Amino acid sequence: MTLKFFNTLDRKLEEFKPLHNNEVRMYTCGPTVYNFAHIGNFRAYMFEDLLRRTFKYFGYKVTQVMNLTDVDDKTIRDSQAAGMSLENFTGQYKQAFFEDLETLNIDPAEFYPAATDHIAEMIELIQVLVDKGYGYQAEDGSVYYRISKFPEYGKLAKIDMENQRAGVRVKTDEYAKDSVADFALWKAWDQNDGDVCWESPWGKGRPGWHIECSAMAMKYLGKTFDMHTGGIDNMFPHHEDEIAQSEAANGCRYVNYWLHCAHLIVNGDKMSKSAGNFYTLRDCEKKGYSGQALRWVLLGAHYRKKLNFTFEACDQAEAALKKFSDLFVRLKSVSIEGNGAEAETIVQAARSSFKAALGDDLNISEALAAVYGLQHEVNKLMDAGKLSSKGAQAVLEQFRDFDRVFALFNVDEAVKEDIPDAILEMARKRFDARKNKDFATADAMRDQLKEAGWTVEDAADGFRVKPL
Ligand code: AMP
Ligand code: ZN
Repeated sequence: MTLKFFNTLDRKLEEFKPLHNNEVRMYTCGPTVYNFAHIGNFRAYMFEDLLRRTFKYFGYKVTQVMNLTDVDDKTIRDSQAAGMSLENFTGQYKQAFFEDLETLNIDPAEFYPAATDHIAEMIELIQVLVDKGYGYQAEDGSVYYRISKFPEYGKLAKIDMENQRAGVRVKTDEYAKDSVADFALWKAWDQNDGDVCWESPWGKGRPGWHIECSAMAMKYLGKTFDMHTGGIDNMFPHHEDEIAQSEAANGCRYVNYWLHCAHLIVNGDKMSKSAGNFYTLRDCEKKGYSGQALRWVLLGAHYRKKLNFTFEACDQAEAALKKFSDLFVRLKSVSIEGNGAEAETIVQAARSSFKAALGDDLNISEALAAVYGLQHEVNKLMDAGKLSSKGAQAVLEQFRDFDRVFALFNVDEAVKEDIPDAILEMARKRFDARKNKDFATADAMRDQLKEAGWTVEDAADGFRVKPL
């Protein structure tokens, strides 16, 4: 089965072909560690987690690099406002970031290089650019990239370079498309930088944001690698500048596939502090939502579509998860003999449409439809008393398989309570009696269960047995 992705560079769907046999090398722009990451950031990291897990599901070995931007305009500004050293200031947010990744069950990348640990590599790369005439030191002491020397500049963001003004410079890390300019590779120290600076052939200063990613990507993944991702806001200038730096220095293509996710919005609006709709992951946890439910919501929309985050969606996710875990408990309690043939076709159909959906540019709604379809079919079989325990095992196994990518259902957690078979059998008989409106038998069995130290809870599509 093939994997297809929408490559931003060509603006079309393309079949994925790795450079090295069965291995995918990918670079994902990581957090700027000047605050707790917000749910918009996690939309991007969740899309990358889905991508990474999909590659693994398709049998690839993944080498993923996610950088930590621990020196840039924002980290310096805010560490000074907090009266802390840059290292201590960013250190607390690095730690928080890794905790948040765990909350969301994000599969860790192979490398999380921090910018401040790679200043030497950045200086080396800037030197190559200067030697080749792409970098020049300006009167302000900073080193800039000469975009007029790189005719392909603008190929990712599709900028028409004909009418751009040559020689205009921009020192800040972020700027808009309509202010295309020579950007900073090395920023000469000024007093706003305080004690944050490194020695370089161009005097003391610090790297620009874009060179950080070029240098670290090259170090861990090579001069040309398979895939580079980020949120859509990263496409310009950040990724455009990365291409310009890396391709000029190395004389070869930088990245084969560029993937960008659309933004997360909240209740239909742009998330912003001033609008009062700005949430970190921790804010959502404080409201009582589980990492699993937040993961579900963040995965819920196709990565190239805007994701509208609402707390109603989080409530719905919690309810859906509860339904699934009830289903797993019900499946575990099935005790009908049989060879499992009744489940084979539906399990296989679900598995292949799930995989086909993921391979089709991570079509999440189709993948979810396969999961819901299986849930529906299985409930029908159980209601008709036609699912054998062997069939139920195969269904549970399929949910474990879905979870290699979704990491949502936690089948083993849901069915881990060690319920004796006799108790499960009694609970199942009670459930059947109740379904057949034989309430006297159902009540008697509930009492028996109670005497044995168990309680049984009814749900729309099953039951759950718990110790008293
Ligand atoms: P930053 O820490 O600002 O460099 O952002 C880290 C990642 O989060 C980048 O890939 C951004 O493109 C992404 N990002 C930032 N805001 C949003 C948002 N509202 N929705 C989706 N992704 C975002
Ligand atoms: Zn980056």
